[in-house]
Amino acid sequence: MKVTVDGEVYGTYSLAENQTVKIQTGHGTNVLVIENGSVHMEEADCPDGYCKRQGTISRVNETIVCLPHKLVAEVESDGSTTDDADDAPDVIVK
Ligand SMILES: [Zn+2]
Repeated sequence: MKVTVDGEVYGTYSLAENQTVKIQTGHGTNVLVIENGSVHMEEADCPDGYCKRQGTISRVNETIVCLPHKLVAEVESDGSTTDDADDAPDVIVK
């Protein structure tokens, strides 16, 4: 998963590892949780809270967007899967 804020890469995180990612920027705070190969927005102090309602993402190119915080979390290929995997319905959890 890649997190960008204001169009700049904030960090990249492996979905293979359950973890909590706290993102603090000048816009506010978001907490993403990676659990069993999927990602959801656990907490956010943005005014609309819409990012928290976007559910979980796990497939390549799926995103969670927090507009007020200019934050985008995007699942990206970890390089070990081929491009063909993009169309596969199964989520590969390593
Ligand atoms: Zn938000």
